[in-house]
Amino acid sequence: MLDPAVAIATSALMCIVLLVLLGSLVRSGIPGVREWLAANTAMVAALPLILMRGRITDILSVIVANMLMALAAVTYYAGCARFLGRPARWSAWMASLVPLCGALVYWRYAVDSIPVRVLVTTLFTAAVCIAVALLVLRYRPPGRSAYPYRVTAWMALLFAACQCARGIYFMTLSGVSTPLMFALPGSVLMLVAGAAVMPTLSMSAMMMVHDKLLADAREAANRDFLTGALSRKGFEAVARTQLADAQRQGLPVSLLIVDLDHFKSINDTLGHAGGDTVLREFVRATQMQLRRGDVLGRMGGEEFAVLLPATALDDARRFAERLRAAVNAHSVTTAAGPCRYSMSGGLAAWQADEALDQLSMRADAALYEAKRAGRNKVCVRETAPSEAALQRAQGRSLA
Ligand code: GH3
Ligand code: MG
Ligand code: MG
Repeated sequence: MLDPAVAIATSALMCIVLLVLLGSLVRSGIPGVREWLAANTAMVAALPLILMRGRITDILSVIVANMLMALAAVTYYAGCARFLGRPARWSAWMASLVPLCGALVYWRYAVDSIPVRVLVTTLFTAAVCIAVALLVLRYRPPGRSAYPYRVTAWMALLFAACQCARGIYFMTLSGVSTPLMFALPGSVLMLVAGAAVMPTLSMSAMMMVHDKLLADAREAANRDFLTGALSRKGFEAVARTQLADAQRQGLPVSLLIVDLDHFKSINDTLGHAGGDTVLREFVRATQMQLRRGDVLGRMGGEEFAVLLPATALDDARRFAERLRAAVNAHSVTTAAGPCRYSMSGGLAAWQADEALDQLSMRADAALYEAKRAGRNKVCVRETAPSEAALQRAQGRSLA
């Protein structure tokens, strides 16, 4: 049968490995990583003390070791809370460590009972594990893979069950409290499960971190850094999904392409930074007009696209005119002085089976008309454009 010391030593080694792995993530600055690192450190400090039970004073091998493990569990919870942007509840957890410490001291020095001590510590760890599971299930980020969060929650619940079973098992042992209880086959089995708690939960924490890093990288690729609108790549991905939905549901979709007028002279007058402020303010003004589900993207330079799902051309025209009026009415304050500007828009209604590129080309052709008609206008492309107009629009969009 497995020696309990082997289980504890293995757990300590795994905690050290996870310390190294988590350490590599500290520089990512992701909230929670430092707490998970601290939790593993507390375990690495606690486990050798347990291994030395009988050879060192019980204050260290019983009281300090168990308190360090409880602290590790609480710190792990704090890591999850910080990672998910929730309060760590340090004061409540720290307050709960006081009665735990009191119970350990009482059941060691006033009444020496290993079963009660095991019960108290396992129930405490089980409570923390349940709190972790509830936290992770309740506050996992929406729109992301549920997998790492579910793994963490189910592992935490499994460990909570193991901990409860271990506590109850010890309470069924009768006779005088002796360290030999720890060597009983059932006890060793549950100890092995208990020893796996921190390494396993740390690994699932790293899965959550990787999910976040992936989501952040995707977000960076799909979002325009300057204005916060979707990047061209991000916009096109979302727009294609929206068109597929519209095709399935038989709903209308409209596309508005906007180009800010005389932007070059805005840059010339206010400097590049002033131009940047105008771009940001335009996106802010547009976002205020958008409904849920509308998609805004920066296609490049001072050109933007707004996809309006479930919107027929008449409503889209009203939206575009509202936006144009809002832009006209708004004076942007830049560091180099105030700026009034205007926009031109090209609008097209999606036709069933039409690809995004074709729809964009028609909206682009309408934009070209608006520019030719003197700017500060929205033109609509109701039907398929002539070949010549398409070629002109293609020329513009490639320019
Ligand atoms: P039109 O009315 O015909 O659209 O004229 P325009 O001056 O707006 O168009 P043009 O294409 O000649 O100039 C666009 C300018 O936008 C040139 C480019 O330097 C500027 N621009 C592109 N990207 C950025 C940016 O990120 N920040 C700033 N400040 N300017 C940018
Ligand atoms: Mg322009
Ligand atoms: Mg342009």
